[in-house]
Amino acid sequence: MSGHLTTVAGVTVDTRHWIGGERVASAATFTDHSPIDGTVLGEIARGTATEAEAAVAAAKAAFPAWAATSREERARLLHAIADGVERRLEDLAVVETADNGALLRSHRRGVMPRVAHNFRFFADWLLTLGHEDFDTRGHTNHVSWDPAGPCVLITPWNAPLMLATWKIAPALAAGNTVVLKPAEWTPMTASLLADIAAEAGLPAGVFNVVQGLGSEIGDALTSHPDVRRISFTGSVPTAKHIAASAAANLTPLSLELGGKSPLLVFADADLDLAVDLAVEQYDNAGQVCLAATRLLVEESVAEEFTRRFAEKAAELRQGDPRELPTDIGPNIHERQLEKIDGFVRRAIEAGARAVIGGERLAGQFYAPTLLTDVAQDSEIVQEEVFGPVLTLQTFRDEAEAVRLANDTRFGLAATLATGDQERAARVTGQLVAGTVWVNCFFVRDLQAPFGGSRHSGVGREGGTWSFDFYCDVKNTVTAPKGWKDHG
Ligand code: NAD
Repeated sequence: MSGHLTTVAGVTVDTRHWIGGERVASAATFTDHSPIDGTVLGEIARGTATEAEAAVAAAKAAFPAWAATSREERARLLHAIADGVERRLEDLAVVETADNGALLRSHRRGVMPRVAHNFRFFADWLLTLGHEDFDTRGHTNHVSWDPAGPCVLITPWNAPLMLATWKIAPALAAGNTVVLKPAEWTPMTASLLADIAAEAGLPAGVFNVVQGLGSEIGDALTSHPDVRRISFTGSVPTAKHIAASAAANLTPLSLELGGKSPLLVFADADLDLAVDLAVEQYDNAGQVCLAATRLLVEESVAEEFTRRFAEKAAELRQGDPRELPTDIGPNIHERQLEKIDGFVRRAIEAGARAVIGGERLAGQFYAPTLLTDVAQDSEIVQEEVFGPVLTLQTFRDEAEAVRLANDTRFGLAATLATGDQERAARVTGQLVAGTVWVNCFFVRDLQAPFGGSRHSGVGREGGTWSFDFYCDVKNTVTAPKGWKDHG
């Protein structure tokens, strides 16, 4: 560490904000630790309302010119950012792993290529955005997609750069300017992205990054009258706080929140596939919003399923996320581990049985856990744990499966394991979920909508849905030549 620069996994990262094309320090800092071994990664600028104000002002000043920039030029610059991401893919991967503890091999092979793809996808989609025309009694209704203005984007720590770029790419493509506030536990790759965007030639003020602790900087961003859109991914309590803050200006919100998604295993399913799908829910140490943390298994196969699940889960290797054989890295933070353990302890006190796991391990690890004998209305079934903790309940028939699946306040995703396509269609139609996977998990085309129902969110991202949110859609009605309104 020297001055405002720190070295993370051999990569130099600037710990200051990026505002109006310049690095800006704050009087105070906060410390960022690696979840892998507790190493201090850096002292990060601790922004307040002052930096929030400066970043929104920079985004506001840059907006008219960026909005007036041709679509082709905006698309070219987004592709240049994608090129930069690809050039620095290894840097981004090692820094993200050091910062959030997720698997290095996933960052290299899946996550960071997807980050580049996010920019390319929305650049290309921008060029296909048509102007729709409708005719009403000779009058042309011309529908256009206008940029909205400065957007505030607030993101969590579990997939930091991936989730941020789902928002940044369409917001910029649409002609908006951006202020990104990454999570305080994972500030690093956002700072690298600022470098990449600058190198790509993005004009000053079009993309800004502010660092800081929750509402200490967040409130000034979300209540700002010059902000035209707020897109947030994170927890339900924070979303409620942000919605209240945004209400003062009626700022449109997109909210991608938590989940308590079910995996429904029917007796007609390929049981090996069902077990694989269930064990996959421990990925990223269970820190995945979409994770199907409630296993709902048809009674007649429950014993067999549980036995095979326990065998398969026992093969998982927890350890250093930088090492190739590791399947599960550490959990993000001591506070998160205490939260996870609290959920499990209370569930066991209430009568749950741990088929596997149920305890903290040395370091920042939690044992992959499966709890049975849990009541539908219990905390462990109703609340998001955000750790490697699954529950298992049984059902007798399809109706009961659907009833249990829908009986939480969430509605983010659902997964079905069944060999019967008609059943899949029937059940899917009854599930409350933004995404339903049938005999698969986690696959999604960026053209398709993503989001949640109920407390899992407001709005959808992806393809046209992203542009719907980030644009002011306008209808211009033009009379035919010589037309006179005679009442
Ligand atoms: P969080 O709500 O604690 O924090 C998210 C972000 O909000 C952070 O950047 C934080 O600094 C910021 N923040 C906190 N208070 C704020 C305030 N008052 N004003 C403005 N910003 C504020 O969530 P987290 O713990 O970082 O993330 C985990 C949660 O995110 C889980 O609930 C998970 O399900 C959810 N999540 C959802 C999705 C999805 O797409 N639906 C994806 C990933 C994570």
